[in-house]
Amino acid sequence: MRVTREEAGFGVARGIRFDRRTAPSARARGGRWLAPGRCCASARCSCLRTARGPSTRALSPCRVVYVDTGLNTIKLKGEDSCGRQHLITLKLNAKYPAEPPDCCVDFPVEFAISWIPQSSLVDIYNQFLAALESLKEFWNAMDEIDEKTWVLEPENPTRSATMRRIAIGNNVSINLEVDPRHPTMLPECYFLGADHVVNPLRTKLNNNMHLWDPDITLLQNLKEVLETDFPSRAVLEKTDFTMDCGICYAYRLDGAIPDQVCGDSRCGQPFHQACLFEWLQGLPSSRQSFNVIFGECPYCNKPISVKMSMKKL
Ligand SMILES: [Zn+2]
Ligand SMILES: [Zn+2]
Repeated sequence: MRVTREEAGFGVARGIRFDRRTAPSARARGGRWLAPGRCCASARCSCLRTARGPSTRALSPCRVVYVDTGLNTIKLKGEDSCGRQHLITLKLNAKYPAEPPDCCVDFPVEFAISWIPQSSLVDIYNQFLAALESLKEFWNAMDEIDEKTWVLEPENPTRSATMRRIAIGNNVSINLEVDPRHPTMLPECYFLGADHVVNPLRTKLNNNMHLWDPDITLLQNLKEVLETDFPSRAVLEKTDFTMDCGICYAYRLDGAIPDQVCGDSRCGQPFHQACLFEWLQGLPSSRQSFNVIFGECPYCNKPISVKMSMKKL
């Protein structure tokens, strides 16, 4: 990779030598994280200039948060118009600028950049900012869900996560798969919980589906069509509506939460899929048909069945 004078100058300004031939010791120390808001020594920040001679342009305002000493890895931050911060990591390979750098982002969709050898890192940064704006509605929808409901899974959702499992009540939850391109449309959803609780919710969803209004938020729509409110973190403790597995007595097992529930309305005991499968497999009275095993609930002895966990296939 060619290192321009501007880039070398930037490196010196940061106390980092980017010239690979002269700075082996600096390189050995690895990259450097830059203090927030203090991306370069100069008050008039004009760092990270492009590697293209006369048409040199600068990233402004400066958004560089990390560079490694070889100037091979650069992390830039960007803010969407709702004030959320995002990072893009650029990895410049030996063929740069004939080939674009590898771009790593935390997006729910593919980040495909357009690149010609005359392109610059500023062009990529601008495409990154445009992509942030195109995903704004999706993150708004997900943020509202994360703030106002009890998200059971994923435990710490990333910006790329399109799935949420939300608690509705005791051992009842809804699993949503949101389309990042159409975040206010009806998402793919399925319910988890005992049949006697889940069936009425399914019926409501089917009957009220036509009321779905893309002009109101995803969460508001869910409330309307399910005719229910979602318990929020603010008012309920996790233990108020989550129960440990009746077999291993844990809540989280290898990242999974108890999502199999005994269908008997007086029992309703939850189990991990793996625990229940193993339990039923060990019972001589159980029988298996294809990938489903049928047996009795360890608590109430009523019939219960479980699908073989995909991990076991
Ligand atoms: Zn378990
Ligand atoms: Zn039971």
